[in-house]
Amino acid sequence: MPQLLSKSKYLSGLQCPKLLWTMINQPGSMPAVDTVTQFVFDQGHLVGEYARQLFPDGIDIPQDDFMGNIFAAKKLLAARKPLFEAGILSGKIYSRVDILNPVNEDEWEIVEMKSSTSVKDVHIDDVAFQKCCCEKAGLKIRTCKLGFINNQYVKNGEIDPQELFLLEDISTRVEEAGGSIEERVYDLLEVISSRTCPEVIIGQHCLEPYECALRAECWAFLPENSIFDLRGGKTKRFSLYQQGIMSIKDIPDDTPLSRQQQIQRECVITGNTHVDKEEIRLFLDTLKYPLYYLDFETIAPAIPIYDGMRPYQATPFQFSLHIVENDESNPAHHSFLAEETEDPRPRILYQLQSLLGSEGSIIAYHAGFEEGVLRELVEAFPEYTDWLRGILARMVDLLSPFSNFHYYHASQKDTASLKKVLSAMTGKGYEEMSIGDGMDASIAYARITYGSATDEEIARVRADLIEYCKLDTEGMIWVVDELKRLSN
Ligand code: SF4
Repeated sequence: MPQLLSKSKYLSGLQCPKLLWTMINQPGSMPAVDTVTQFVFDQGHLVGEYARQLFPDGIDIPQDDFMGNIFAAKKLLAARKPLFEAGILSGKIYSRVDILNPVNEDEWEIVEMKSSTSVKDVHIDDVAFQKCCCEKAGLKIRTCKLGFINNQYVKNGEIDPQELFLLEDISTRVEEAGGSIEERVYDLLEVISSRTCPEVIIGQHCLEPYECALRAECWAFLPENSIFDLRGGKTKRFSLYQQGIMSIKDIPDDTPLSRQQQIQRECVITGNTHVDKEEIRLFLDTLKYPLYYLDFETIAPAIPIYDGMRPYQATPFQFSLHIVENDESNPAHHSFLAEETEDPRPRILYQLQSLLGSEGSIIAYHAGFEEGVLRELVEAFPEYTDWLRGILARMVDLLSPFSNFHYYHASQKDTASLKKVLSAMTGKGYEEMSIGDGMDASIAYARITYGSATDEEIARVRADLIEYCKLDTEGMIWVVDELKRLSN
């Protein structure tokens, strides 16, 4: 069979011909799909299953046999029923349509279902390619629609697909995008058949609409402390790059930089750490004992799990809390990790109410996130409304001295994340841990709770989760201790 241009390859080719060429001609050079990407795919499949309920008389065409799917789709067109996953092949282009819905006597509607919460430009290109495929195969396409998640939907009992999804008619936008599609398809087929990989210099296209899977390879030539580690201003980074400036230390003196960027440049050139003692003291003065160091781990599934939950709502399944009574005392650790599929929210609120007391600072890193989680918990359980008011008044954001560059070390690069700050200040890190960040934690929890993990795996992952979340709050204590030391 000649090399085909499928929908996903077409979209990759629009992002970058080098990416497309490598996918087809050197598939072994493509990095394996990581757990986060796999998780996103799995969510997409689940969303697709609910979407099919919008078309109860639809026919599901098996996808395991490539040509079998195409032949079956061709045959089933005569049934004039909604078809799920109909493979359409025309010449060298191929697409599988999420839902091909019959309209009028002999026309069809393309319905593409996405797990996003709005229509994006890349979706228009996606559907334009499907329409091109269908029309070349002789189908009359009347309309094109995009189905996406209604993020205002609130689960109440069984999931209601009619409420969960919004369908938008995108026919006009698809028509406009389709104007030059044949030319683009021709160009990309040329790329595929070329013996050599196209030369493409790095640019904004490496990051949009998706971060390219080959980024690590293509960007590997950049030096340590490259201009892409500058805080803020994507446009400035690329503009410096286009001027031939690769390293922060090579940025000319007369280049307009923000205060933060100037501090970065200074730290890279001198090798010093930037410390603003006065500002750090002012921050530390806001802390009132007892100190409560709080961190949530959350899941944010596309399909809400519990009643009162919206799609993608960050919902806690775990917390870690360290309490330091006074300047002299050792921290006391408390933690919670949900068990099985029971809704953990009532127990989390109940435990926090008894642990957080009525006075003292509640310290979180990026506290806006913890505050948001608490607000949404209380939205679902309004009996805690008065308690929450008192809690929010005591919250302190430990990110603040770092996002404001009152402390900066060049190893942080362009981030003030706890992991980078902790490592810069104390040399301690998360490298040895099986769970290395919040996304890992969320995926691991979803796998042991809603997947088919063995008892042994569940026990191991639970221990890892507890250890990971504990380090987040313990790490905050170390950071505050270090700030105290630096401020003297
Ligand atoms: S990293 Fe950038 S240049 Fe390299 S293949 Fe991807 S999009 Fe193209």
